[in-house]
Amino acid sequence: MTDIKRRKFVSLMGVGAAVVPVSALVASLPSRAQDMPVVDPESAQAKALQYVSETEIPDQNCANCTLYSGAEGADAGPCPLFPGVSVMASAWCSAYVPRA
Ligand code: SF4
Repeated sequence: MTDIKRRKFVSLMGVGAAVVPVSALVASLPSRAQDMPVVDPESAQAKALQYVSETEIPDQNCANCTLYSGAEGADAGPCPLFPGVSVMASAWCSAYVPRA
């Protein structure tokens, strides 16, 4: 192997080593909120927080809770209390905190 080919090979290996961890990181990121399944109201976490998909409390729902980070007008979005799933914008749980 000539010096030039060796240098090119070594430099490509460096790029490959940098690209693999970035792609592994991206693959490990949670999917977009709209692709996440909605929380199961029968799950242990949902029951512990008294989560309901449709709130019966006027003016209190996930869409206007401080912890909700769904897009404006979306049917569902992320909540840090339910990692890996989304909560319904119309839902409510006992950890509700009104937005300021
Ligand atoms: S804390 Fe409860 S009310 Fe607030 S967004 Fe999360 S699930 Fe909805």
